[in-house]
Amino acid sequence: MTAVDPKELREFSQGADAWFRDNVPADPGFMLPLTFMEVGTDQQFNFLRDWQCKVWEAGYLGAAWPKDYGGGGLDQSFQKAATEAMRRHNAPIMLNAIGLNWTGPLLLDMGSEEQKQNYIKRILSAEDVWCQGFSEPENGSDLGNAQLRAVRDGDDYVLNGSKIWTTHGSYAKHMILLARTNFDAPNKYAGLSFFLAPMDAAGIETTPIRKLTGEFGFTQTFFTDARIPADCLMGEEGQGWLIAMRTLEYERGARGGQAGGYVITPLDAFSILELAKKAQRDGAPVMDDPVMRDRLVEFLIEAQGLKLCQERGRIAPLNTDRPMALSLTGKLMWTEFARRLNEFAITLLGAKGGYYVGDESAVDDGLWTRGYLNAFSATIGGGTSEIQRNIIGQHVLGLPKK
Ligand SMILES: Cc1cc2nc3c(=O)[nH]c(=O)nc-3n(C[C@H](O)[C@H](O)[C@H](O)COP(=O)(O)OP(=O)(O)OC[C@H]3O[C@@H](n4cnc5c(N)ncnc54)[C@H](O)[C@@H]3O)c2cc1C
Repeated sequence: MTAVDPKELREFSQGADAWFRDNVPADPGFMLPLTFMEVGTDQQFNFLRDWQCKVWEAGYLGAAWPKDYGGGGLDQSFQKAATEAMRRHNAPIMLNAIGLNWTGPLLLDMGSEEQKQNYIKRILSAEDVWCQGFSEPENGSDLGNAQLRAVRDGDDYVLNGSKIWTTHGSYAKHMILLARTNFDAPNKYAGLSFFLAPMDAAGIETTPIRKLTGEFGFTQTFFTDARIPADCLMGEEGQGWLIAMRTLEYERGARGGQAGGYVITPLDAFSILELAKKAQRDGAPVMDDPVMRDRLVEFLIEAQGLKLCQERGRIAPLNTDRPMALSLTGKLMWTEFARRLNEFAITLLGAKGGYYVGDESAVDDGLWTRGYLNAFSATIGGGTSEIQRNIIGQHVLGLPKK
């Protein structure tokens, strides 16, 4: 690893700051999704795709990915500086979350040279948006039991079955797909294979699913005698579980190498203070109530603690006691924190907590109510909080598998 020149990094950071200050788009006049999981209209999709492409072209996305595949070839600290600049200027989220955060790093890590050449640059530019076909109607947490059938027939695989909760299913060009190629394998995991499947193959159809917030963003995806070329197989038949597990390590942030930026609107815990000044309790601002002030301070301390834990996770010598602890707890802690903070905000709103986006009487445009309803998504997607707790129990604390 070559040492980073502090002057070069400082100049890059200043350049990023100026660029985002000048280029963050104005309010487009329609509602943007809070996270990549609620992109439900063409308007939102096109806006976010154009924005991601612009950021990449300016050199502030994929800055640490190899130059040969469209990245900037720089140290990770440069991308971190660019992402911080995005945050400072409240830039919109990156669209292609599954491409940037898990398919891309997976291909760079385990993909063939041809796959890297074909896919990586187009992930960065958002020309190709990716989706993920892991969960099935009967198998979500029990991913190893996936039943979608892939049968080799000449130069193709023929797919039959269904996937569900496919984020970006309506828009994606490719899917990372876990399918069963062998129903007689010695155990359920050994029968699985991993594909980089084209979504435009005949026989693949998607039906949008509406969310609790009224928004769309994922689909049920049906495969009916869908033929995909045999070279869509990643690795060998039977290696699907191994590759899926590596994918989940990227998805849950337990392994680094993501392209950068954020795909979920950053949570500003301090913004709840403004709400506490406005919201009333017994005829006085909530902020004047000492019990409520205590609760607010607890949230702020927790937010700061989580942030510092994240920083600490990046410094290897500080993680020698339980090396996997911070990387495996991050998703669980942040997503549950976001849910509890939004829930607390709703209690501050009292009866007004029932007003939603678009209601005239809604406080802050219904932002907190939307945030609360939306916060459940991230505690389920990528593995539920219960599953994360199981993983931490087994892999960090060494508890026995039941
Ligand atoms: C917003 C959103 C986006 C998503 N995007 C995608 C996507 O793009 N691609 C994709 O493939 N999937 C996606 N998912 C699906 C997600 O991965 C699954 O919903 C999740 O893994 C849970 O599976 P399930 O819904 O089948 O619930 P189940 O597995 O049926 O779980 C039901 C309940 O039982 C609990 N439970 C299950 N097993 C255990 C256990 N062993 N121990 C303790 N508790 C347990 C769960 O925690 C949960 O509370 C998305 C989900 C959401 C909410």
